Amino acid sequence: MPKKKIVKSSLKPVRRKKFEPPRLLRGMKDILPEDQQYRLAVIKKLEDIATSYSYQRIDTPILEQANLFTRSLGEDTDIVDKEMYIFEDKSEDRVSLRPEFTAGLVRAYIEHGMLNRTQPVKLYTVGPLFRHDRPQAGRYRQFNQFDCEIMGGKAPIVDAELIAVAHSLLRDLGIDTQVHINSIGSSEDRAQYSNELTSYLKSQKRRLSEESKLRLLKNPLRILDSKAEEDQAVIAEAPQIVDWLSDESKEYFINVLEYLDDLNIPYVLQPTLVRGLDYYNDIVFEFYEEGETGGAQSALGGGGRYDGLIEMFGGQPTPAAGFAIGIERLILTMKTKQLQLPGLYVPDVFLAQLGKSAQKYSLALMDQLRLSGFQVRANLVKGSLSAQLKVANKIGARFTLILGKKELLDGTIILRDMESGSQEIIDIQKVEKELHKRLDREPSKPAVRTIGPIDEVVRAEMEHDSPNPEEVIIPPAEVVETVAPTVEE
Ligand code: AMP
Repeated sequence: MPKKKIVKSSLKPVRRKKFEPPRLLRGMKDILPEDQQYRLAVIKKLEDIATSYSYQRIDTPILEQANLFTRSLGEDTDIVDKEMYIFEDKSEDRVSLRPEFTAGLVRAYIEHGMLNRTQPVKLYTVGPLFRHDRPQAGRYRQFNQFDCEIMGGKAPIVDAELIAVAHSLLRDLGIDTQVHINSIGSSEDRAQYSNELTSYLKSQKRRLSEESKLRLLKNPLRILDSKAEEDQAVIAEAPQIVDWLSDESKEYFINVLEYLDDLNIPYVLQPTLVRGLDYYNDIVFEFYEEGETGGAQSALGGGGRYDGLIEMFGGQPTPAAGFAIGIERLILTMKTKQLQLPGLYVPDVFLAQLGKSAQKYSLALMDQLRLSGFQVRANLVKGSLSAQLKVANKIGARFTLILGKKELLDGTIILRDMESGSQEIIDIQKVEKELHKRLDREPSKPAVRTIGPIDEVVRAEMEHDSPNPEEVIIPPAEVVETVAPTVEE
């Protein structure tokens, strides 16, 4: 028998690439639902306080022309040198994800002719920023800041108010802070100081860390920001900028400090604080939790004055100052200190419904309650009352409304106080009034009734309802109970 010829396939075996499940990029962070509560509540609180100080919200794009940042921050700064996400878009424009807010807000101030508005213009914004930094605890490549800027005003009291706003934002969230403050004078003061500092640092070069040796060539001022152990002694003996300040800058600085004294805002003079961006002049500051010595990742926020930036971008000479607070670091501090969340999204009322017709009616009732200004929650998946009450408890609802077939027919609803466990039957038409009374709240506006006592669809359905094994009629609870109602499930 002839041997069977084995024909080798000319096709090479296809080596399938192992499927790599998509992963989060290094340095990025998902903000999960359980963390949103914190984030939204903190941002809401910050917004409320900033608004009370007359700051108005502005939003600028995340993507801007790259040179907006390279020109304003300075080519030799860490952010521009190493950390910016820069790329060419499809139109071959060099664009960048914003690494900070100030430059974008200054661009918007000029482009929208905000100089013609009543000065100063006080703006706040909040959102994500991007820096391709080495990720570590409390340092991400995408993070969020809350930012306030005041443009069109220069006086020591303006700087003091700006610092006071940041201080009270943090204090009202439960964090007592100390301001680390310095004056870096005018650009002329800084140029002279920089020469002096550079010759001193050159004389100490061999004692410096490798990174600082490199900075010596590019941006010697940044060495003052170094956290490297070996640099500390050199920094401590370095000439201090305060000795190079013009009389004008010195007086301005002293006046700001006097206002801070008057406002009882604790501060520490920090002669090595320079905040390494080119656009700052005179007052620069950072916020640390009280007792913090100023470690690498411990500043909660910082800012300063930038009187030349608007003019540099082609606007009229306009003095300005601002600060930013890091949202992630703020939340981390609040969690470490086990601080209470500002009571924002705590639901006023949970709506429990039993049976199909009650469920249907509840959708309209929830809408009605929301329109009347209540934070309402429900769980339309869980059938039994005890399961729904468990959810209500877990989310911390203040009251639970219980609606079953009997209540629907009677035009009533059971109102349960989740703290005391007591419950009573009330007229469904008066539910908002009762809730307002018990929550000690004034009705914000006249309630718009979107539903009648029991709408036609539900009535028709109830008439034709086949007996539904899951549907439970709640026993009359005329008596005020202190335990969960015993309803068969
Ligand atoms: P800066 O704009 O560098 O002055 O930073 C102001 C604040 O933003 C800091 O004090 C931090 O709270 C926060 N921050 C800065 N960089 C990061 C980062 N990479 N990750 C998380 N938070 C940051």
